[in-house]
Formats: sequence, structure tokens, C-alpha cells
Amino acid sequence: MNDMTVPSPDQATRVPPPAPLGMLAELTHRCPLSCPYCSNPVELDKRSGELDTETWKRVFSEAASMGVLHLHLSGGEPTARKDIVELTAHAVKVGLYTNLITSGIGVQREKLEELADAGLDHVQLSIQDALPDNADKIAGLKGAHEKKRVFAGWVLELGLPLTINAVIHRGNIENIEALVSMALEFGARRVEIAHSQYYGWALENREMLMPTREQVMRAAATVDRLREELEGKLVIDAVVPDYYARRPKPCVGGWGKQSLNVTPQGKVLPCHAAETIEHLQFDYVTEKSLSEIWTNGSAFEAYRGTSWMKEPCTSCPRKEIDFGGCRCQALAITGDPRNADPACSLSPFHAKITSLAMKAAAKDGTDYIYRRFGAKPGQARVEITRNNAPV
Ligand code: SF4
Ligand code: SF4
Repeated sequence: MNDMTVPSPDQATRVPPPAPLGMLAELTHRCPLSCPYCSNPVELDKRSGELDTETWKRVFSEAASMGVLHLHLSGGEPTARKDIVELTAHAVKVGLYTNLITSGIGVQREKLEELADAGLDHVQLSIQDALPDNADKIAGLKGAHEKKRVFAGWVLELGLPLTINAVIHRGNIENIEALVSMALEFGARRVEIAHSQYYGWALENREMLMPTREQVMRAAATVDRLREELEGKLVIDAVVPDYYARRPKPCVGGWGKQSLNVTPQGKVLPCHAAETIEHLQFDYVTEKSLSEIWTNGSAFEAYRGTSWMKEPCTSCPRKEIDFGGCRCQALAITGDPRNADPACSLSPFHAKITSLAMKAAAKDGTDYIYRRFGAKPGQARVEITRNNAPV
């Protein structure tokens, strides 16, 4: 159905979903770093296909009209877009709370000042580790860690609130306390300790990234202790790892319930990994309004609510709490996105995910497959010394 067609009786009587709270705008997939757990798809969108400035501005206006509150300006590295200040200013003008999710690399102080002047509300800076050499190795760029320290200083000087984001995996899991200390030292108000989610690039690197169950347990205890010790000084948010869980997370707060993603080319996704469900058809902001896609888009409707579920979710009292977990993980591990997330111990596939985790964790080595354009699974190894400039 396009915007102009008359709705079917079912659609006419259906209660439209509430507006999403947040929108992740992947402005570009270009990035100076090459993190092996990057949530971008393995096939990255090229610069030539990126939405132009006016289209992004229209999308931001539409998001605000729909009731979206938070706009996450992300990528890749969002500041690789020459129009980042103009886009931010427009988002602020239409009433969106703007959060810049950045690697902090390649951003000049003047640009950050312009962003602050444009009304940017918040900065979220990723760090790869507390140990500079290891951080640079994970990021795939020598000197990256030191640049992040400088960038964090500018954020503070400009009076912008700062969150530090650290993706946790086998290569840094023993350094969580040092990562949190670093966030404090950087002047952050909040730190996100987010265990790697195994889709896209992280799935390619699962054997290099997966920690052991013991490491995960120790990490959880460390986070609990630090939360108590730092109460009132630093908020510590933690995203627990699925592979050793007993119950899944409500992925993206429920499919088509709270948030949406727009890719650099304007494809609208219910979650960043949704493209791995190949039978879904995604709509583009260049063809339909954001509101129409959110309300009636077939990819959003596919797993919205609970009517699509199979047992054991159908009769489970938690089905309105976790919405059966993650569809992409259900597909990746069980072959059917309608199955319960295998992270759930009630799933008949739970033993499989545990066994995959244990096998992956038993490997050693950190010979990462780095995220980069044109990479094919298993053929993407690059040297840390190269200059991984945006293309
Ligand atoms: S995870 Fe790393 S490579 Fe991916 S967008 Fe963020 S900084 Fe760039
Ligand atoms: S059976 Fe389904 S709804 Fe129940 S806890 Fe497991 S994943 Fe969640």
C-alpha cells in the first residue's frame, strides 16, 4: 500500500502503534575506525548512496511531528558528514533532543564548537579499552586512544554532557574497572558497559571476541560493586551478554514499539540488525513518509506485538515483558525468526547457544576481522598501521 491508497478494513480498525521514542540516524557508514564488533552491517552503504542534506532534514522534521523525542546522530562516524552542523541545527530547531554518537576521531575542536553552538544536547564517545595499545589495536588505528582523550577534554570545556560507551568482549573484559575510572577521569556523567552483541561484524569475529562464562560473571560482579561505590558520581548502565543469559532482553524495547533506525541510504529498520532477516521488505524514506513506514511498514508489522509468536513464548507470562527477545538472534541460531530467542532457557535451542559461546570462548587469539568497506566474511583482515581514512 502506498500513502494514497484506502486502508483495508483490518487496517482501518487497527489501533496505530504509539510513536517511537527514539530514532537512530545512521548518517553515514564511513568511519576512521574498524572495530571488529561494529553494529553496522557487513555490507556497508557507500558514500555515493547516502541521503542528501534536505532529505535528512525532512526525515528529522517528520520524526519530530510523529512524537520522536530522542535523535541519535550516529554512523559510522557521523561527523564524517560535511553537513553535520546543519543537520544538528535542524534537528534542534524541530524540537528533537540530539545525541551525537561518535568515535571522537577526525573531529576538530572548531567543528565541536559549531555543534555546541547549533544546540547539540549530548555527546556519546566510544572507547575501546583503558590500555592505549590495546585500544588502538581494537579500533584498528594507531593513536586513536590519545585522540579520544583530547576530544573528551573539548566536550567538557564546551559544557556538553558526556557519556562514555565501551563495548565489552574478551579483549577488554578484564579492564572494566580501568574503563570506568577512565570515564570518570574524562568527566563523563554516565558510562555504558555494553557486552558485544553477536550480529554483523561481531558475528564474523565471535571466536575472537567471546569471553568465558567466568569472565562474564566476574565482570557483572565488578559492575555491581562499582555501581555502589560510585553512586551519585557516575551512572553505570550495563548491557548483559545474551549467550550466557537465562532470559533474553526485550530487544530494542520490543520490535516496532519504541525505536527505529534509518540507514545512510534511507532504509528504515526496526533494529540495526533487522536486515539479516532476509525475507523482510524494508521501506525507504525516499519513497514513503516515516510515519507511514512506522505505522504500516511490513517489516515493522512482522514482529510487532505478540501475535506472531510460537511456543514457548505464546503461553509465557513474560511475553509482554521481553517480547520473545531478539528476532535476529532467533534467526541466526535457530533458523526461524519467530522462535523464542535462544538466549532463553525455555527455548529448545538454548543448549546450542551455550555450546556456541563455550566453543568460541575456548579459542584464543585476537586476529580480528576488521570492519571495512568491501570486506567479505573471512577476507577482511587489515593491518593496524594503515591509515583507515573514510572513503
Ligand atoms: S563501532 Fe567502531 S567502526 Fe563501528 S562505527 Fe563505531 S567507531 Fe566506527
Ligand atoms: S519463552 Fe519467550 S516470552 Fe517467555 S521468557 Fe522465553 S523468550 Fe521470553
